[in-house]
Amino acid sequence: MGIDHALPTSHNFAEDIPVEVLSFEEAVKYMRSRLPLSAREYYELDDKMRYRAFAVSRLADADAVAQVKKYLQKSLDEGGTLDDFRKFTNEELLDATGLGQTAGWYWETVYRTNVQTAYNVGRAIGFDSAHPIALELIGVNDLRQTEFCRSVTDPPFRRPYGDTVWETMWPPFHFNCRTTVRGIYDQEEIDGEGGPDRFYTIAGQDAPEPGWGSNPLDGSDWWEMTPAMKKRAKKAKIDKEIKKAREVLVEQPKKLEYRESRTIAEANKFARNDLGLTGSSYSGCHVEAANEWNRSLVKNLNQFPEVQGLRYVGSFADAKKKYTAARTETLLEKLKADYPGFSEETLRKSAKKMARKAAEQTYVSSAHGLMYYGDIDEIKGIALNDRLASNPEWHRMLRKREVNNRYKVIGGDSIGAIADHEFGHVLDNWLDISDNSDVQRIFSKLKADDGVELLSGYGTSNIHEMIAESWAEWRNNPVPRETATSVAEIILRRYAEWKKQNS
Ligand SMILES: [Zn+2]
Repeated sequence: MGIDHALPTSHNFAEDIPVEVLSFEEAVKYMRSRLPLSAREYYELDDKMRYRAFAVSRLADADAVAQVKKYLQKSLDEGGTLDDFRKFTNEELLDATGLGQTAGWYWETVYRTNVQTAYNVGRAIGFDSAHPIALELIGVNDLRQTEFCRSVTDPPFRRPYGDTVWETMWPPFHFNCRTTVRGIYDQEEIDGEGGPDRFYTIAGQDAPEPGWGSNPLDGSDWWEMTPAMKKRAKKAKIDKEIKKAREVLVEQPKKLEYRESRTIAEANKFARNDLGLTGSSYSGCHVEAANEWNRSLVKNLNQFPEVQGLRYVGSFADAKKKYTAARTETLLEKLKADYPGFSEETLRKSAKKMARKAAEQTYVSSAHGLMYYGDIDEIKGIALNDRLASNPEWHRMLRKREVNNRYKVIGGDSIGAIADHEFGHVLDNWLDISDNSDVQRIFSKLKADDGVELLSGYGTSNIHEMIAESWAEWRNNPVPRETATSVAEIILRRYAEWKKQNS
């Protein structure tokens, strides 16, 4: 029985290969001991990339096992015996089935697909920081090039950088894909080819195979398994371990890291992208104030990553604008129903006036900060009074005076402490802290005793402010007093219970 005729000649990965029983576990073990990426390379990849590397490797394992089985079956069919088969060394067997260190396609598939993905993700990030005028797909024009890759690289596929086509035309386009993207920064190159009309590709292109081609910066799922990969994983019974890898690598909440912003635009971007609070805007605030709020939020969100009821952070000015716009629409509907005789224009004017007034009453100008938990989803969260926060020095002076007057808690004199106070409201709302009988007892004691001395004047106004003030003191006073400590400990205990119930 020879090996030659059984050598696999092509390796079509779209093929569904069932792997029910692992009959050559020793071969698999051997194979797994050789990670396609070195440990250092592997840990340099980001988590999503690592997850993808893992999924691709495991799928290739399954395919390899199937190849070994196929090979065995074939040699048995051709008169070989199992003993003949077992005489081969591991190396010979692995080489014959494409798993060998030198003759293997396995390593190439795993390595190339992962490395190419990493490379092309890197390119996308690079282009995002310095926008080229146009992008072009570059292929490797040889016998191994697939039909699709040839069709998009010869002649080269070129479109302007911002073109939506790049959302779905980002390599790799298949396993082992070697196609890359090139950025064109020089207008002369385009003019040299006869201008945009001749330079750019016009005809509609075929789309890559499902699951391939999505732009890594779209917030897309380039790192997810393709539908075909998922199907194969299920067949090979490795879908559970891949799911586990996904949980560990991708789904676990990440530690947030604070970064100082130089501009309000940067601070907004940090709040939206890093903190995940979409639609946030500190417009009207000084960047120092925005930084202090972002820093406070990083701390609080790291401690309570699952917090609910916080999806926005911003300035009163921004929140009021969004509040007014949303409220105008709901009021207009109501007015239309109540006053059918009036023109829409007239009713809209009235609705807007009413909405503006409601916004002013919600975001009262005397408040430093505020938690909004109403029915307008986009501003659910916390806001900072930009009238005060536009001048940090003056604002801090004001806070200091309030602390000296015992109106605010010890430690509450920074702008960040306002965010901590508002976050205290968010926690109260989320974990029903004010319903806790111990907290209610603490509040009764504050009212009966000298609450102003024990916490702060503001903290005695109602139980919710007591909780928020306590959280602000616990966060900012290096030696938090008894009231703040007791309330903070109840919050932490409630959170631990919540985690137990929800895990
Ligand atoms: Zn408050």
